[in-house]
Amino acid sequence: MIAARIADNLARIRDRIAASAIRCGREPDEVTLVAVTKYVGIEEARALVEAGCYDLGESRPQELWNKAQALGHPTARWHMIGHLQRNKVRRTVGCISKLHSGDSWRLLRAVNGEAAAVGLRLPVLLEVNISGDKSKYGFQPDEMSDVVDRASQLENLDVRGLMAMSALEGGGAGARKEFRGLRDLRDRLLESCPAEVTLDELSMGMSRDFEVGIEEGATIVRLGSALFDGMI
Ligand SMILES: *Cc1c(COP(=O)(O)O)cnc(C)c1O
Repeated sequence: MIAARIADNLARIRDRIAASAIRCGREPDEVTLVAVTKYVGIEEARALVEAGCYDLGESRPQELWNKAQALGHPTARWHMIGHLQRNKVRRTVGCISKLHSGDSWRLLRAVNGEAAAVGLRLPVLLEVNISGDKSKYGFQPDEMSDVVDRASQLENLDVRGLMAMSALEGGGAGARKEFRGLRDLRDRLLESCPAEVTLDELSMGMSRDFEVGIEEGATIVRLGSALFDGMI
């Protein structure tokens, strides 16, 4: 049965999250699990929510709209984690509780405009290209000081922190170095950024490297395949 299987996988993942947190002297509840539903359908998404996982993520806007509407659950929170095209901003802003993939200045301005139009202040993370892969989205680390400054002036964005993905090919050691780099970058940015910006959130870690992410300070991990182990 799908629901039982999902509840079981979720419990095991939560145990691994807690173990990683404890291993490095953190509290398990400092880490939010965003369940990425892109490989599965609405039935699995619903089973996750019913098992107590209220933070759900999608990397494609259309898929997010469809699932958010089909789920229609008042306490579910949707996270947009993938690249967002500007013509899809309006509809997406109305569906999400957080944008993880603030990856360009033009996008941030568009999101700010749509958030203003509906009278909300949207939590956003700034995506940083930590792997140095030119084909990947995200700001370059050396432009972040400027980006944080400018983004914090957009009144309808609530800049909460940074998001990144490790390079596919680097393995655990590569991921650790990149995640540590993101945390160090955040710490350096905090020294010079406007006082009201706290950058508390670090969204880093997927199925292949979330334990490393937690050890390096992740406050959010985004997990898909590990949650649907044996189902996809
Ligand atoms: C798909 C995706 C994830 C989850 O990936 P898994 O390896 O399945 O855990 C996390 N973050 C982003 C941005 C994704 O696109």
